[in-house]
Amino acid sequence: MTKKLTTWVEVPPQSDFTIYNLPYGIFTTVDRSPRPGIAIGDQILDLRELMRTGLLDELGMPLGVFRKELLNDFIALGKPVWTRFRNRVIELLSEGNEELKPHAAQVLVPQADAEMKMPVHIGDYTDFYSSKEHATNVGKMFRDPENALLPNWKHLPVGYHGRASSIVVSGTPIHRPKGQTIPAGTDKPVFGPSRLLDFELEMAFVIGRETALGESIPVEKAEDYIFGMVLFNDWSARDIQKWEYVPLGPFLGKSFASSISPWIVTMDALDPFRMENYPQDEPVLSYLESKEPHRFDLNLEVAIQPDGGDENIVTRTNFKYMYWNICQQLAHHTVNGCNVRIGDMCASGTISGPTPDSYGSMLELSWRGQNPISLSDGSERKFIQDKDTVVMRGFGKKGDIRVGFGEVRTKVLPSN
Ligand code: MN
Repeated sequence: MTKKLTTWVEVPPQSDFTIYNLPYGIFTTVDRSPRPGIAIGDQILDLRELMRTGLLDELGMPLGVFRKELLNDFIALGKPVWTRFRNRVIELLSEGNEELKPHAAQVLVPQADAEMKMPVHIGDYTDFYSSKEHATNVGKMFRDPENALLPNWKHLPVGYHGRASSIVVSGTPIHRPKGQTIPAGTDKPVFGPSRLLDFELEMAFVIGRETALGESIPVEKAEDYIFGMVLFNDWSARDIQKWEYVPLGPFLGKSFASSISPWIVTMDALDPFRMENYPQDEPVLSYLESKEPHRFDLNLEVAIQPDGGDENIVTRTNFKYMYWNICQQLAHHTVNGCNVRIGDMCASGTISGPTPDSYGSMLELSWRGQNPISLSDGSERKFIQDKDTVVMRGFGKKGDIRVGFGEVRTKVLPSN
């Protein structure tokens, strides 16, 4: 049971950034260089300024750790330090604590005045395929409706190595990718802008502890290697993907961009939303057996906003629909001795729920374009159009405790 917490910082009702959350990000303002911060209400707690107050001295953290423009060095201090630091920040922000209050003007920055940057250097990015509903839907569409899941699917968390260099933070526009596609009924490819640009609603975890080459992470220890999570839009060009993916898997249909929410929500903050693992109906090999609860009840939604228009929610789903949990994913990722490094990102794969209004991609929502979605301005969408903005949001709620991810918001520009 989480202790009841209140803060002297004003937190609007329905804010994602309550005192139970305290997510980490990198921000700038006109008068401040990029630096680490923690979101609280509509404010950012400037960690570089917080360090200068001396109120963290008792923790014995390296003085330069918040002079960095990325969170990797802070994350490298390790889980006991993350937890001690978090507990100290909770103490300083708590109602009744007077230590930090006199420094409020120096350490608190309105989020409205700040621009968010990439929170970590991402050395490697892996994308899984762990929602049974999503994998089943795609299998039905492109393969055999009777055998939608391939024989390996319930025995291992299927994944592939993605492209880290093209992961961008919320607010960064992307260009529609160009590439080879194969027109229906022909056998010769053509080159041009993708016509089937899609989002994939995913969540991603950030590696918080490195391993040596040859080392494997046991499934029940895997959370010790995870710093926190973000929302992840794994942009996909379905027409490019369909032509190129055989036999080695996704390539240019995926590597042109992925977008993340700027605030990393820690595993400590997500703890209240923990639930029993997804009931797996096929026995797994022992290195994948996960008995402790590593599944999380997090509400997710996606909106499409046409240029100059209103937002339209096109799907509502939940992170709990993951068949494979994050610890099984990381155990599998490293079972061959593949090493992980701080800041590496592992995305869940598209998260689809059981009903057609809870699917995590336009491919599924429009069922390959057969059932266009109507928007409030009278237009229709089978896939994403130029100048559309796609917004993903997510939060957990349990009793009085609300912990959210903010949003990942991306505008699609025409091809270069
Ligand atoms: Mn994906």
